[in-house]
Amino acid sequence: MIRRTKDYIKITNLEIYAYHGVLAEEKQKGQVFFVNLKLYMPLRKPGLSDALADAVNYDEVCSLVVDVFTKESYDLIEKAAEKTVEALLNAFPVLEAVELELRKPDAPITCAPEDVSVNIYREWHKVYLSIGSNHENALGYLDEACKQIEASPYIRGLRKSSIIQTKPYGPVVQPDFQNGCVAFETYMEPEELLGFLNQIEADLKRERVLRWGPRTIDLDILFYDDLVYNSEILTIPHIDMQNRMFVLEPLFELCPYFRHPILGKSVEQMLAELRQK
Ligand code: ATP
Ligand code: CA
Ligand code: CA
Repeated sequence: MIRRTKDYIKITNLEIYAYHGVLAEEKQKGQVFFVNLKLYMPLRKPGLSDALADAVNYDEVCSLVVDVFTKESYDLIEKAAEKTVEALLNAFPVLEAVELELRKPDAPITCAPEDVSVNIYREWHKVYLSIGSNHENALGYLDEACKQIEASPYIRGLRKSSIIQTKPYGPVVQPDFQNGCVAFETYMEPEELLGFLNQIEADLKRERVLRWGPRTIDLDILFYDDLVYNSEILTIPHIDMQNRMFVLEPLFELCPYFRHPILGKSVEQMLAELRQK
């Protein structure tokens, strides 16, 4: 999501004895770690209601951190930090983002600095995808792709549009397409998300023979928050979405008022303009 709040809960120097480190001795003897947390969530509601049900329980937060942190031992504090933040974001839906600093003051480093720490920030991002198939079992493939998306621990809140039947786009003669859109939240990074979607396409045996040719499944990223992103392998927003009825019609069901971050037009407007062409 596009983080709405500047409010956060801060937990400072939670001390945990654990066994993370590359050296065998670190895994056997263990050492002290300190965790600092910023839990981003809107605090206006609990501020007004004074109800624990509207807040996060700090005791539960700390217990979860200790559990995750001591259940396994990792070589890297980066990994231990990542696992801890994932667990928090997954366990407390009210959290929009988490920042975690993990300090390892007794890390075995020859020149003995006072402290070593990693600091990571993860937030839920709102994503919209276009999904399509023109296999004879198109609906089955779309369904399976959605199941695989939903099964990811890094994704929550999947919503689906209806599926519409459309004539193929481009010059290749081929069966009609079934197209739809889905929305969800994820804390995957954009290219990580693309890799995840490519993996689903590969699992469902999509063959890349012809551009715009027949395929079992096609998963395209339309929006990722209001991010504008360009790399060799990924362009966000999707470069041609505003010209595609089979994208805008189902997307309109999910987010009619969401604004394209470059064109500055809502999905509703883009759809209306395309219909007039
Ligand atoms: P189109 O993108 O015009 O719908 P396509 O979906 O048929 O074409 P693919 O063969 O599926 O094209 O993808 C070609 C490449 O496009 C992918 O390997 C991927 O790296 C890249 N790509 C760039 N931007 C995106 C995006 N927003 N979502 C998915 N893939 C993208
Ligand atoms: Ca496509
Ligand atoms: Ca694609």
